[in-house]
Formats: sequence, C-alpha cells, structure tokens
Amino acid sequence: MKIGFIGLGNMGGPMAANLVKAGHEVVGFDVTSPHIDGVAAAASAAEAAQGADVVITMLPNGEILRNVVAEILPSMSPQTLFCDCSTVDVATTKNVADLCAAASIAAIDAPVSGGIGGAVNGTLTFMVGGSVDAVAAIAPLLNILGQKTVHCGPCGTGQAAKVCNNMILGVTMIATCEAFALADKIGLDREKLFDVVSTSSGSSWSMNTYTPVPGVGAKSPADDDYKPGFAAELMLKDLRLSQDAAQSVDADTPMGQLAQNLYAQFVENEGGAGQDFSAILLTYT
Ligand code: NAD
Repeated sequence: MKIGFIGLGNMGGPMAANLVKAGHEVVGFDVTSPHIDGVAAAASAAEAAQGADVVITMLPNGEILRNVVAEILPSMSPQTLFCDCSTVDVATTKNVADLCAAASIAAIDAPVSGGIGGAVNGTLTFMVGGSVDAVAAIAPLLNILGQKTVHCGPCGTGQAAKVCNNMILGVTMIATCEAFALADKIGLDREKLFDVVSTSSGSSWSMNTYTPVPGVGAKSPADDDYKPGFAAELMLKDLRLSQDAAQSVDADTPMGQLAQNLYAQFVENEGGAGQDFSAILLTYT
C-alpha cells in the first residue's frame, strides 16, 4: 500500500517506521523534516497525500489538523482512506469527517493509547470511529501499529473514548500522587504502599505501570527525572478536551474539572511544562 503519513513526531515517527518495516511504501511530511529510516520525505502535506491509498495524520492539536486537512483534501480522491490518529476535540473530528464525506472520502478517527513505547513496539491500542467498511479497510494497518483495536461507533466516537480514558488517567494519577505524599507524611514506606496498593482495590495503570515515584514499582519517567513520556501539557490538553466535551452535552464531571484545574496550575504556574505528567507528584511532596 502507498501511505501518506503527516506528523512524524514522538508518536508518528515510530508508527511510520513500523509501516515501512511491514513492507509498505510510506511518504512522510513533518514541518520539522525529521529523518525516519525508509520513509520518503515529501516537501508538503499535499505532496505526501498525493496518490496515497491511505493518509494518516498524527498531529499536535485540532487547529493544526484542520489546516492540514484543508491543504490535503484536493490531493485525495474517493479511493483514499483518511485516518487521523491525533488526539483532538470531537467537534474537529466530526468537521473533518464531514469535509471528507463531501468529497466522497472515507474518514476514520483512530486516537491511540500506549505512549511512545507502544508506538515504537507496535503495541498501541486504537479506539476507532467510522463506518464498518472504512474500519475494516484500515484494520490491516492498525494491526501492524497496535495490538488492540476497538471500533467504538461512527466518526467522533474514537475521540470520545480517548477523552474519557484520559480523564480517568488524569484523575487517577493525581490520586496516586496524593496517596504517596500522604504516606510520606504519615511515615509509611513508599515501597510498602506500592506493594499493597498495586495488588489491592486502589490499583490503577498510574500506580502499577507508570509508578510516579523514583525507584519504586514499574520503571517509568519518575526514574528518568520526569522527562516525558507523556508531557504534562498534553495531559492538560486532553483534560481540557474532556471538559469541553462534558460542557457541550451538559455532563457533570467534577473530578475531571478538578484534575484540569490542578494540571493547569502545575503546567502554567508550578514549572510543570516540559515535564512528564507524573511529575505533579512534586507539588505534593
Ligand atoms: P509531537 O509533538 O512529538 O509530534 C507532532 C508532530 O507534528 C511534530 O513533529 C510536529 O513538527 C508535527 N507538525 C506540527 N504541525 C504540522 C503540520 N502543519 N504539518 C506536518 N507536521 C506538523 O507529539 P506526539 O507526542 O507525537 O503526539 C502526537 C499526537 O498523539 C497528539 O495529538 C498527542 O496528544 C497524541 N498522543 C500522544 C501520546 C504520547 O505519549 N506522546 C500518547 C497518545 C496520544
């Protein structure tokens, strides 16, 4: 297959490389022109999309995605499958799907979970929105890039799943950090807290797989001076997406709102920008 891949950053770079390793022809574009082994470099997003069977985007936010889609639409044809893997707002996803539909192009939203490790190792989880036919057509590529794909429903539902997942992640990370800070102050050893909670009802991905204190539990960004990993500002972006979505349908998400406020405080006033999202622990200890 000929694949146009736009956005070759921390996630998109290794994803594009995995498609090349699986034998696909990949033409990539990124504004920073990184070199990815085996990926042919296009001079523009439109050039990457020209003549591609599938166009994949992995971009920072909805505004950039909208601009890129406006640029590449004339380069795609009704035979092209468009698949956005970025995390963006549901409204942008639906707008992009409508623009594609007007040009008879099938569009899919397929945001991911699994972080940079998942992108490198091809073990991402995809949450996918789109028609049954479009999702079946993209499945062979997603199976190269990940180990699990859930078809969530029509366009936009993949992003809906992603914002719900990351709202839980933000809340559980804060709760896990608060528990470690409380344990410190009460005089409970961190290792003992991990031993108990990781096999008890307080366990979570934040505790078990991404333990936010150095030298305890799973190897994580905490063991590498809180270098991302998953940047605190990306977590703040996702919490804002969750609260925008909640507001748009009048849903009550007080814990999600509080997590957004705490991450905003951390990123904007407490030096969290550029750190991993688990570094919010440092504001409690
Ligand atoms: P990143 O900043 O490393 O990569 C984004 C890339 O897009 C950059 O290389 C940037 O130069 C490029 N870009 C920006 N504007 C562009 C344009 N107009 N045309 C072409 N390229 C452009 O970010 P990332 O960590 O790879 O994240 C990408 C997306 O994946 C985000 O939406 C993020 O929320 C989501 N995500 C990230 C993680 C993670 O752990 N990093 C996990 C799940 C989902």
